[in-house]
Amino acid sequence: MRIPALATALGLVLASPAVAQTIAPILTTPDAHDPHSYARPAEARVTHVALDLAADFDTHVIRGIATLDILAAPGAKQVVLDDNGLKIVNITDAAGKPLPYLVGAVDKIHGAPLTVTLNGAKTIRIAYASSPDAKALQWLTPAQTAGKTQPFLFSQGEAILNRSWIPTQDSPGIRQTWEAKIAVPKQLTAVMSGLATGKPACVADRCTFQYKMDKPVAPYLIALAVGDIAFKSTGPRTGIWAEPATLPKAAYEFGELEKFVAAAEGLYGPYRWGRYDVLVLPPSFPFGGMENPTLTFATPTAIAGDRSLVSLIAHELAHSWSGNLVTNATWDDFWLNEGFTSYFENRIMEALYGKRRADMEADLAWTDMLAAVKDAGGPAAKDTQLHLDLDASRDPDDGMTQIAYDKGAAFLRTIEKQVGRARWDAYLRSYFDRHAFQPQTSAGFLADLKSKLLTPAEAKTIGVDAWVYSPGIPANAVHVTSAAFPAVDAAAKAYAAGGPVSGVPGKATTQEITRFITQLPRKLPTERLKALDTAFGWNTTGNAEIRFAWLQLALANHYAPADASAEQFLTSQGRRKFVAPLFQQMMDSGDWGHKLAMDIYGKARPGYHAVTQVTVDRITGWKLMN
Ligand SMILES: [Zn+2]
Repeated sequence: MRIPALATALGLVLASPAVAQTIAPILTTPDAHDPHSYARPAEARVTHVALDLAADFDTHVIRGIATLDILAAPGAKQVVLDDNGLKIVNITDAAGKPLPYLVGAVDKIHGAPLTVTLNGAKTIRIAYASSPDAKALQWLTPAQTAGKTQPFLFSQGEAILNRSWIPTQDSPGIRQTWEAKIAVPKQLTAVMSGLATGKPACVADRCTFQYKMDKPVAPYLIALAVGDIAFKSTGPRTGIWAEPATLPKAAYEFGELEKFVAAAEGLYGPYRWGRYDVLVLPPSFPFGGMENPTLTFATPTAIAGDRSLVSLIAHELAHSWSGNLVTNATWDDFWLNEGFTSYFENRIMEALYGKRRADMEADLAWTDMLAAVKDAGGPAAKDTQLHLDLDASRDPDDGMTQIAYDKGAAFLRTIEKQVGRARWDAYLRSYFDRHAFQPQTSAGFLADLKSKLLTPAEAKTIGVDAWVYSPGIPANAVHVTSAAFPAVDAAAKAYAAGGPVSGVPGKATTQEITRFITQLPRKLPTERLKALDTAFGWNTTGNAEIRFAWLQLALANHYAPADASAEQFLTSQGRRKFVAPLFQQMMDSGDWGHKLAMDIYGKARPGYHAVTQVTVDRITGWKLMN
């Protein structure tokens, strides 16, 4: 059920004299209650955020003014915002009259409620600064960048980190339009997840950049990056931002953005965000990519030199529909963002590169899904449900496992198989249209599915409720099997049995090589590893996916040359997907592995983002030992 509560009562346009904004509905059903936000949106909600900020690279602080438009229910006296470590200077109404406010008790996951007494104000103005250790912001030294001469700053809002630099209601179900002015040192460029409005205005040693998002978005999608970055166009509505040192190879690797956008539109309808640009971040970026609207943030580890890892772009672009257009109302339904996106990603890959490549990627994801079930504690574990039950005591990051991605995609494939691709595609396209710019819950999706696509008999055959609310992988899950992999698996078996290196598909696609390495037994004689390394150079390859698969195998065997390779790999990038399992592998490998992990982590840790640090601290017991 969808209740556009206050918006219906007050009309769809907020009575703000300056800018008329579209107000997105909120959901007020119990399953849409967000335990990870202090906001009480049914009483008073933020509809628009205007930021006027300056980034101070000396003190690692962002400071300035946030002006919030508030839509309050009749009689509501307060608005409750989310705050994590902000230094509030003062809060006033639009005329400058002080408003009383209170910062409540601090919780280490959620931060604190910031309750502002409105005294009738429809606009509140907050003067504040972020803390130097704001969780959303990573301030990089010049040494941590590719160019080595200028500092860099980027934000990562998902899941609940933006409250450490923006005082607003930080809940994915409370969509807000926004605009921002960002002042930065004049040798740097600021980019954001919205459209630029005009050219930067430069005074003395600072330039001010302006951006705007006139479509209501979940607040975790407000993103900022500042650095020595340059732009290269890849077509009329697409282009690449990167440090000058990285830009040429990034622009080649991701040079086909226009084709990606066209393929996505061909599947599920118009791209609604104007531009689609990709910002390639410095190597400490903890994720593969982040789907910030109009500007995907991407890891440089996806640059393989041969466009073999561009499924990352397909994924982040697909989020322009699933996640950014239709958004999980709470983090319990994270799979609505990631499962849909993983499915859509694979359809884009199929449209652009053919079924052989798409099937290989889907088959690898199936293997990942089974591993994630095992990691979660087996098929009976609650965390293998699509709909999660993260109460307020758990960090929503806990829910962000591969289950949401791969089990979610497998569910949609199972529906597709039941109803046929034509019916499924028509439904999914209409689903995005009908729910555009709105939050969604699992229950909302299932109700829509049952009323617009499936007959009761079909819903029963598929078992749609069990798929969403029960643990494990249902027996009818569609497993896409790659036609290319049986030969790869046979080659791995033959090599493990002592066959010659000439039988190894070492020059095949990245996906086949990765599959080959992961199919080898975890224990191999040193000379068998050395033969592979000599023939194919996997110990030093610049292809991060192959390097990662190789290091897992080589470290499991204490293959000596892997020590230096692991150190180089782990100190040159901080993508959590690669970093965490390799440290885990070392920690599981006895005394030598433990020592190697500690040696490497001591050098690598200062260069990692907080998100990666938290995970590896836990794996290595770093905090206890240091
Ligand atoms: Zn994603």
